[in-house]
Amino acid sequence: MVVVMKPGAAPEDVDAVVSRVEASGGSAFVSRGVQRTIVGLVGDIAAFQTLNLRAMPGVGEVVRVSKPYKLVSRENHPEATTVSVGGVPIGPDTFTLIAGPCAVETPEQTLQSALMAKAAGATLLRGGAFKPRTSPYAFQGLGEKGLRILADVRAETGLPVVTEVVDAADVALVAEWADMLQVGTRNMQNFALLQAVGSAGRPVMLKRGMTATYEEWLMAAEYIAQRGNLDIVLCERGIRTYETATRNTLDIAAVPMMHSLSHLPVIVDPSHSGGKRELVVPLSRAAIAAGADAIIVDVHPDPTAALCDGPQALYGDDLDELARACRELPPLVGRRLVS
Ligand code: PEP
Ligand code: MN
Repeated sequence: MVVVMKPGAAPEDVDAVVSRVEASGGSAFVSRGVQRTIVGLVGDIAAFQTLNLRAMPGVGEVVRVSKPYKLVSRENHPEATTVSVGGVPIGPDTFTLIAGPCAVETPEQTLQSALMAKAAGATLLRGGAFKPRTSPYAFQGLGEKGLRILADVRAETGLPVVTEVVDAADVALVAEWADMLQVGTRNMQNFALLQAVGSAGRPVMLKRGMTATYEEWLMAAEYIAQRGNLDIVLCERGIRTYETATRNTLDIAAVPMMHSLSHLPVIVDPSHSGGKRELVVPLSRAAIAAGADAIIVDVHPDPTAALCDGPQALYGDDLDELARACRELPPLVGRRLVS
C-alpha cells in the first residue's frame, strides 16, 4: 500500500501517518520528493485499511493495488495522464512529434536539425549531449557544452528540449538546462539514476530496456514515481530478438499493452527501433495507428557526416513523408497533432 501526500503537505502530517501505521504494527518508508512525499507501507493490508488514512490531514490518496507497481498502474489511476514538457502536452487526446539529432555535434548542426524538425511539425527537440555509446572509442557527446548549445537552439526556435542523462551525478546539471530528462535503454534499471531523476523536478522519458519485460519497465517507472515525480513518459524503442536485419525489433504491442497496464503516456522511437532510415516512416505510421502519444525521431542535415547513428537519421523527402503521416494519421485515431 502507498500513501501519496498532497503537494505541500506539512511534515507533521507525514509524521502523523507514519505514527499511525507504526502503532498498528506496520512499517512506513517515507520518500520526500520535490513535487510530493510518498509513504510506502509494509505489513498487514487488512490492518491498514482500518486506519482511515485517507481522512488524515495532508493525505492525497491511498493506493491499494494488486500489481507490484502501484503509482504508475492503470488500476490505481483509471484516467490517462498528460505530461507537459515546457508547455507541450504528451497525452491521450493529442499526438506529439519529437525530433532532432541523435547527438549534439555543433551549434550549426543542432540548429539546422531543429529547424528541419520544426518544419516537419515537431514541437519538442531531442538531442544528446551525454551519449551512452556501446564502444568507449565512439563519440561520447559534448557534455555540458552540448547542453548550452541545446539551450541556445531552444531560445532560437522555441522548441523545449529532451536530452539524455546517463549518470546520477549529472542529473542536477542536465535538469538545469533541459525541459525533459531522458533515461536510455542501457540505464533502464540503473536504480540510482532513476531515483535521482525522480527527485529532479523535471518530466522524465523512460526508454524500455532492450531486454526488459513490461513489468520490469513499469517497476523502473515506479522507482521514479516513488520519489514523488509522476511526470513520466514511457518510450518503446525496440527490443533484442533473434533478428539481425534490423537494429532492434519494434514491439508495437507495447503501445496498447502499456496503455492498458499504466496511466502514463506511451511513445515510440522508430529510429532506434529499426536503425535504418527507410524503416522510420513505416514504423512511425504503425506507432500512430497503435495509439502512441508521441514519436521521437532522429534527423540530421548531413547523415553521412553524423557522429552518431547517421544511417537512421531522416532528411529531405523522408522528412516530408514523416510530416504527412503526422498530419494525416492522428485524426484517424481520434487525436490531433500538437502544433
Ligand atoms: C537515444 O535516443 O539517443 C538513445 C541512445 O536511445 P536508446 O537509449 O533507446 O538506445
Ligand atoms: Mn542514437
